[in-house]
Amino acid sequence: MAFLTDQHCHTDISLDSTASYLDMVQAAYAAGVRWLCITDHCDTVDWRTLELYPPCRDVARRELEAYEANLDRVPKDMTVRMGVELAELIFHPELKEELSSPPWLDFVLGSYHITREYGDYHELTYTPAFCEKLWDIYLRDLQQVAEMDYFDVMAHIGYVRRYAMAQGVDAGLSLARHGDRIEHLLRTLIQNGRGIEINCSGIRDGCGPFPSEEILRLYKSLGGEIVTVGSDAHRPQDAAKGLARGQQILRECGFRYVALFTKRKPQFMPL
Ligand SMILES: [Zn+2]
Ligand SMILES: [Zn+2]
Repeated sequence: MAFLTDQHCHTDISLDSTASYLDMVQAAYAAGVRWLCITDHCDTVDWRTLELYPPCRDVARRELEAYEANLDRVPKDMTVRMGVELAELIFHPELKEELSSPPWLDFVLGSYHITREYGDYHELTYTPAFCEKLWDIYLRDLQQVAEMDYFDVMAHIGYVRRYAMAQGVDAGLSLARHGDRIEHLLRTLIQNGRGIEINCSGIRDGCGPFPSEEILRLYKSLGGEIVTVGSDAHRPQDAAKGLARGQQILRECGFRYVALFTKRKPQFMPL
């Protein structure tokens, strides 16, 4: 492919980033990205209390304001799109219409980071036995996300492996142990016209892509065609990292196109 695409990255509109919008755009451009969708966190739940998180109601508007304020400074040969990483909507399905339907949004990632039982995956202590329990919960909840109709692409399937690995526990999702449920999840996404991303943040930290290659191959073999590439960068120094490898992995897994979203509709560009 002639250039890099990134449809998952963050700016200081996200609570966990301090990067300015323009810095992220310019860093991505300098690293070779020519199609960039900013997808700031739109978290419906406060990860500390599991209560409703009202600032989620402002994220799409802030995305539009940042886009318009920086439009003149975007390089002419770069496309920038407006997205959100809309998370934990299974806790608050009543917000679905309000949060996912602003007409200026180009792209909505369907995302999930918090369990009802134990809170945020980021905060947990991992053991092999607990991981098996967590994967059951993860797949149960992800299936619930997949059955909702608010998003275009499901974000970072299997990313919880990162937190386990950081604590020395290598127990990710695998087709050998969770194949039936993963296949059911992927079939649901395909039937509902949703895609998946290859999230390259795990390529940067040695965990491999999310989802793993075997899951990407399964998605392809089941007829999945909609796939996007995302760095999930939260800092300019991570801009575009892992994207070239991610696009190469997609080719190795048999994909011939990457989907680029404008106003919630994909166009397909050869990989
Ligand atoms: Zn996420
Ligand atoms: Zn993200």
